[in-house]
Amino acid sequence: MEKISIIVPCYKEEAALPYFWEESSKVTNDMKVKYPELSFEYIFVDDGSTDGTLKVLKELAAASPEVKYVSFSRNFGKEAAIYAGLEKSTGDYVAMMDADLQDPPSLLPKMYECVKSGEYDCAATRRVDRKGEPPIRSFFARQFYKIMRKISKADIVDGARDFRLMTRQMVDAILSMSEYNRFSKGIFGWVGFKTKWLEFENRERISGETKWSFWKLLFYSIDGIVAFSTAPLAIASVMGLIFCLMAFIGIIVTIIRALVSPASSAFGWPSMICVILLVGGILMFCIGILGQYLAKTYLEVKRRPIYIVKEENEIKE
Ligand code: UDP
Ligand code: MG
Repeated sequence: MEKISIIVPCYKEEAALPYFWEESSKVTNDMKVKYPELSFEYIFVDDGSTDGTLKVLKELAAASPEVKYVSFSRNFGKEAAIYAGLEKSTGDYVAMMDADLQDPPSLLPKMYECVKSGEYDCAATRRVDRKGEPPIRSFFARQFYKIMRKISKADIVDGARDFRLMTRQMVDAILSMSEYNRFSKGIFGWVGFKTKWLEFENRERISGETKWSFWKLLFYSIDGIVAFSTAPLAIASVMGLIFCLMAFIGIIVTIIRALVSPASSAFGWPSMICVILLVGGILMFCIGILGQYLAKTYLEVKRRPIYIVKEENEIKE
């Protein structure tokens, strides 16, 4: 017997969940027929929703013995929900999927085929387009992936979704990274293992609306960079060096000029103000970068729990 755990983070998804359940349970039921050795376990993580999400989940759990729900005491974010799901999962394989059907469950059989053969440890998905997304968001997303690939060791793929199926071995590796500042896309890449990439066309969410505003995404991307690269710190040092060099050249030029024509040495007050402002700005910028890392370190050393569970049910084997 083999079991697949499906983790579904849900935040205010009361409208989308019935559609999700209908479509994904159809796929998993078909899979059980096709592969008699398979069984499933759904782990819905209610990330502190303020709508009727938990009620819908309880109804699903009452109707199906495959459903486990975990409900957080407040909204801890999708990353925390994924971590909780991974911790609670008991399957030989673990899949994760969004509740809004933007990750097509119909890809599951193909993903299972990929990892079952043992050739791959993970079947991940990426969307080949960003249809239906604001162009400015797509632009920034592309730039983010470009920069991230240059400055970090984690192999982050453009358009990669969190929708993936992994072996237990890989899940345990991910769980061993118990950091507080979780950036899944980086963590998945960082742990390594052999990944098969499947592609699909972007789908719009079935119902409800996205929880990611432009600003939330921007800050999330900064979190990602801070979590997986120290390049910004190096940039700060390099900028400092460049400015020292410039100042040094400036000093020499000023001395020579004062010696050659003493009258011109008082010249250039406006340009000096500009330089002071520029240097001051760059200093503040670099202190800001330092602050980002310090803040993350501060949160990390506090060792706060990644999530707090308010209630959950147990699946009877
Ligand atoms: N989600 C979550 N906690 C949050 C925000 C989102 O668990 O604080 C879940 C949400 O319910 C969904 C998935 O994460 O299943 C992706 O969210 P969403 O569809 O809003 O993001 P998008 O697909 O627009 O990037
Ligand atoms: Mg979505």
